[in-house]
Amino acid sequence: MSKIITCKAAVIWGCGAPLKVEEIQIDPPKSTEVRVRMLYASLCHTDILRAQGKGDPLPLFPRVLGHEGVGAVESFGDEVEGLEEGDYVIPTMLAECGACENCTSANTNLCLTYPVNRSGLMSDGTSRMSIKGHKLYHMFSCSTWSEYMVVDSKFVCKIDPSIALPHASLLSCGFSTGFGAAWKEARVKMGSTVAVLGLGAVGLGVTEGARMQGAAKIIGIDKNIMKKDKGLAFGMTDFINPDEYPDKSISQIIKRLDWWNGGWIIALSALVPST
Ligand SMILES: [Zn+2]
Ligand SMILES: [Zn+2]
Repeated sequence: MSKIITCKAAVIWGCGAPLKVEEIQIDPPKSTEVRVRMLYASLCHTDILRAQGKGDPLPLFPRVLGHEGVGAVESFGDEVEGLEEGDYVIPTMLAECGACENCTSANTNLCLTYPVNRSGLMSDGTSRMSIKGHKLYHMFSCSTWSEYMVVDSKFVCKIDPSIALPHASLLSCGFSTGFGAAWKEARVKMGSTVAVLGLGAVGLGVTEGARMQGAAKIIGIDKNIMKKDKGLAFGMTDFINPDEYPDKSISQIIKRLDWWNGGWIIALSALVPST
């Protein structure tokens, strides 16, 4: 039976407050939960929104943010299946029961049995994190900006241990969102022209997904020209900085430059403004 762990975490105490590195307590995992020793974590725009008290039905503070990361299973509850101590896992915003109407549909993966967690608490309505006796809210199903976190095993994905872990950290949310949009949602066809609005983590994921699907032209659009090299590394074929065409819309620029090859233009808009 694992014990309470005291560790460091980045805690936010209120709307717009600065992050404070504090010592917090992490309870042992229950039933289907795993406790994870975090190795890498990354930052998503949604963390910033939650820090500002936006996006949830109610602002949840004090809170440990972070929903992208990778770590190693430290201990697990007695109903956990398929995971062992030391396994490398990434948290996921959505689980997949594999049996509900949505999971068995080819059109969506928004699992009805394990939907996105908006309460900041575990499924039993309690938290596994506390500070000096105060309950700490989680971010979604997890909290990656902590040395340890507890997450339900339905919301983790075991990964190949040979993968570069700093890169794996980005697979929890942003990059996969874009990659899946091109691959699973838009289902980009061979030879397509794809316009990607914004080359942040989501947009670069779209770019890679479109490249994998065989898109003939992948036009990256971003006001930050430093994103050009990143886009090219992920398969972008052309780059537009809209500031160079102040009197034109994006679609006008693409058509004026004769980049449209007569196929469909699929605009996969990145949700996160790149900075
Ligand atoms: Zn995110
Ligand atoms: Zn499901």
